[in-house]
Amino acid sequence: MDFMRKEIEELIGKKLYRELREIETPQGKRVVVEGRELLNFSSNDYLGLAKEFDCECLEKWGTGSGASRLVCGNFKVHRELERRLAELKKTEECLLFSTGYMANLGVISTLAGKGDLILSDRLNHASIIDGIRLSKAEKVIYPHRDWQFVKDYLKKNRKEFNRCLIVTDSVFSMDGDIAPLNELFQIKDEFDAVLVIDDAHATGVVGWSSLELFNVEPDKRTVIVGTLGKALGTFGAFVCGSKVLREYLINKCRSFIFTTALPPFIACQTLKNIEKVPERRKRLIKLINFFKKLSGIESSSAIFPYIVGDEEKALKLSEILLKKGFLVPAIRPPTVKESRLRITVTSEHSEEEVEKLWREIKGG
Ligand code: PMP
Repeated sequence: MDFMRKEIEELIGKKLYRELREIETPQGKRVVVEGRELLNFSSNDYLGLAKEFDCECLEKWGTGSGASRLVCGNFKVHRELERRLAELKKTEECLLFSTGYMANLGVISTLAGKGDLILSDRLNHASIIDGIRLSKAEKVIYPHRDWQFVKDYLKKNRKEFNRCLIVTDSVFSMDGDIAPLNELFQIKDEFDAVLVIDDAHATGVVGWSSLELFNVEPDKRTVIVGTLGKALGTFGAFVCGSKVLREYLINKCRSFIFTTALPPFIACQTLKNIEKVPERRKRLIKLINFFKKLSGIESSSAIFPYIVGDEEKALKLSEILLKKGFLVPAIRPPTVKESRLRITVTSEHSEEEVEKLWREIKGG
């Protein structure tokens, strides 16, 4: 087992070693870490909903789900949430998953296999990458947001493959920019492909769905994956699409079939949180626009990358900010190519708090 210590030492040498940090209070804009209160600019809890709870949900449903959905873990409230999410995403149907990681892994490896083609943006989330690996399909990683590359590649090569998936984050998780969904939507029709969109950081932030930004409505070739653990404030994930897609996944998708169902109180709490989204979202959008103007950082979401480049410098800046009372993580390879601070703002931050953070970053 010596290989583990050796590899860990290598990571330490390259400044890429990671440690877990313990937070002593619930998720929110203020958290206590090692006895110190910090202003939190690192969370995906974009609407400050993570610490909300309604005892009614727990009293009604308890904590556990007791089994997979197909055994005896399928509760009425799961279905209610699926119907609500399908309505919000403007799709025929929806299926809940236990995490976004499992949703991406499962959907991609179920919809594509040997002899099929998957085109994937270079900056897609790790769960998409792992889903592609699991699928055994032919993969083409295209340059970030380069729809023209996708089109040209399909023009030349589409005939060689059976099924074809184009997979993209809508809001990219480390850069905060948005995929060219309008173009990809047309390309999927032109080349008989399916477009899989990961709306993890878009749901409840840019609208209910990223497609709203382009005035496009999902069709039978559109699959939207989303998570409940970010703006919606709870935990878990979902896949929205056609009726036949839901049926197919229930019967074929291993990361849906062979895992314990989402606890029903989580589905119940998510339904309650959804009601609070529109009002909080208005505040979030106001703050995003404020920070964009203040910092000059390009972003179309609540994620603001402050590129530092060097691993050690990024770590140091994050440590300086920590000493001054701000929690802002340094994100380093292999998660990203260029080390950076990943700043996230939420509807609960004030303009003064964001200004304070920016002053410290520029001074640091
Ligand atoms: N997709 C994206 C773009 C993400 O950022 C994440 C989580 N960081 C996931 C999927 C995975 O979702 P979950 O945390 O629910 O597993």
